[in-house]
Amino acid sequence: MAEKYNTTVHEKLSALASNFWWSWQPDITNIFRQIDPLLWSQQRHNPFKMLREYDADKLEKRISDLALHSSINRAYRAWQEYMNEEDTWGNIQGGVLQHRPVAYFSAEFGIHESFPIYSGGLGILAGDHLKSASDLGAPLIGVGLYYDEGYFIQNINKDGWQEESYPTLDKSVLPIREALGVDGKPVMINVPTRNETIHAKVWEVDVGRIKLYLLDTNVQENAEEVRDLTARLYGGDQRIRIRQEILLGIGGARALTAMGIDPRVIHMNEGHSAFAPLEFIRLRMQADGLSFDDAMREVARSGVFTTHTPVPAGHDRFDSGLVEEHVGPLADQLGLNHEGLMALGRVDPQNHSETFCMTVLAFKLSRKANAVSNLHGVVSRSMWSNLWPWRGEDEIPIGHITNGVHVPTWLAAQMRALYDRILPLDWHKHTGEPEVWSSFMEVDPAELWETHQSLKNRLIIYARSCAMQQAERRGAPKEQVAKLADILDPKFLTIGFARRFAPYKRADLVLRDFENFAKLVNSSTKPVQFIFAGKAHPRDDNGKVILQKIFKLTQEDRFRGRVLFLDNYDINLGRHLVQGVDVWLNNPRRPLEASGTSGQKVVLNGGLNCSILDGWWAEAFDGANGFAIGPGRVHSNVEIQDQRDAENLMSTLVDEVIPMYYARDKDDLPQEWIYRMKRAIRSLGWRFNADRMVMDYVTQTYIPAGGGTSSELF
Ligand SMILES: *Cc1c(COP(=O)(O)O)cnc(C)c1O
Repeated sequence: MAEKYNTTVHEKLSALASNFWWSWQPDITNIFRQIDPLLWSQQRHNPFKMLREYDADKLEKRISDLALHSSINRAYRAWQEYMNEEDTWGNIQGGVLQHRPVAYFSAEFGIHESFPIYSGGLGILAGDHLKSASDLGAPLIGVGLYYDEGYFIQNINKDGWQEESYPTLDKSVLPIREALGVDGKPVMINVPTRNETIHAKVWEVDVGRIKLYLLDTNVQENAEEVRDLTARLYGGDQRIRIRQEILLGIGGARALTAMGIDPRVIHMNEGHSAFAPLEFIRLRMQADGLSFDDAMREVARSGVFTTHTPVPAGHDRFDSGLVEEHVGPLADQLGLNHEGLMALGRVDPQNHSETFCMTVLAFKLSRKANAVSNLHGVVSRSMWSNLWPWRGEDEIPIGHITNGVHVPTWLAAQMRALYDRILPLDWHKHTGEPEVWSSFMEVDPAELWETHQSLKNRLIIYARSCAMQQAERRGAPKEQVAKLADILDPKFLTIGFARRFAPYKRADLVLRDFENFAKLVNSSTKPVQFIFAGKAHPRDDNGKVILQKIFKLTQEDRFRGRVLFLDNYDINLGRHLVQGVDVWLNNPRRPLEASGTSGQKVVLNGGLNCSILDGWWAEAFDGANGFAIGPGRVHSNVEIQDQRDAENLMSTLVDEVIPMYYARDKDDLPQEWIYRMKRAIRSLGWRFNADRMVMDYVTQTYIPAGGGTSSELF
């Protein structure tokens, strides 16, 4: 990518805006923000859209007024250098993968708030995976679906009930383009079912050095009903779901073939994409004249499967009729009869009453399978042990690679500046190495506290403005809106809780002992304030009831301004919260949180986790790098477990968290607390980040799966 001699600043900015790399470069984000702060926030931080409103002259003038020329030139050069770098970790370590990439399939990708094709943790993880793969130079491409209406926008009405709206994304202002096939024409693939053919076009998105391909059924070749197939994420019934999944898996594989990409490794991020290997089996049979069994053995050698769900009901299952209608045509080409096809998705192939499970299919077509935390590995091995009845439980071939977060995406700029001063030069290129983080223990406590305090102030200002906008939207009287301008006190202990309102996450656990909760919030000496956020799934009325309960509380006089609910949790709100809270509360019903990642984002920014010993926290907590709620027990009776956890939560807050936060020295510094902040960053930063995670995937799964020895699963 040679730099054109006379590239204008307008062209440079457009080029930067067309690759999501900008989104993890604070300096470039800053340039865009400065150009038009108001448009920037109105347009959900979409620089591509913002620049559309500027012609070359107007932009040139604005840039001159702000004296931005040299920062833009520097940013553009940095980008060119990044894109052309050769001695990356991936180039050196990638070995066998170099010429044929890993194809990473995922039903959602959470890259940036301006591109809402994600619903929650799974998508954010996939986005972070791509970004770290890019930074490391790992040879990988992403495959997913393009959702016209994305995930919903959440509004809470006057009664505290969640309402959903689905604005259509405007393709013309997104940095996406038509993917081209080997024939130089826009790619168009199809997947026939028994009743019709699903057509899709393919969009190409740049995420740093990584290409992401998204399939879109909104094309004129499709009947009306099929055009809407990719309209919404997880929006439909089982029939829509299996159709989205044949599109993602079979269609995704066909799109790669059309572009001349023959992946060395197929990584299925969750079971949604497990049909993909079936298409690669078909290709092998066709190209090399192999039998189904031989081709399956070959293809399964290159499969990597990551399971994310410790809840049995959370695994996709389809009945025989749906499978026949949608996968039947491919099965014909594979020479499989209906029972042969169903057997691939059954734990017991002979059991005709078993439905077709995508997770089982994924296991059978993989070489390496992993859970997403140590504890989730234990749960998964026990849950799926009947797939390997001849093995003991600790020989079940499901390992674990604990999730991590992409550091540059989630680290606040001020905190980054502190890291730049304290950690070794180029620390951000070596975030997976423990030595790089050890010097953090030497940071000056006052400086760390100051930095945190300024991030907390920023969160509070942001939360006030959100609260005011929301009250206005709900039609609150002017005086009431005005009163929200000074809610939340920067000196009070601030606890954040933001996550999907899935009932197992128990957003209302802290309210169970209501009397003590009210006392904490209204304490005259050691007050605590809470900020809640999160979406309930549109069809999850139980989740909506919990949300409503919290919302109603925020409207009571005694909690007003001290307990807050912020609408429309997304990457942007998430970033503000994880960067500014003192404490991040996480109280899922163990062992149902496979990993969780939001608490890892908090660690990087100096917040402390207060969490049930579940998911990543069960392996992260060392006694002094945050707080544990209870000893990590489970009970067969959910009610008893909830009650016990609620009691432990209250005592952790009252006996440990609150006193430690308010124990100040003569300079008003909470020394013991600051020690925990340092210890959290030092002991957790290197382990729970996405560079370490992607390096683990490369060395433990991609290289073995790319290397061609036989499957270790079956
Ligand atoms: C990080 C993140 C998540 C995932 O967090 P969990 O800890 O798994 O609940 C979900 N949504 C958003 C917007 C996030 O930023």
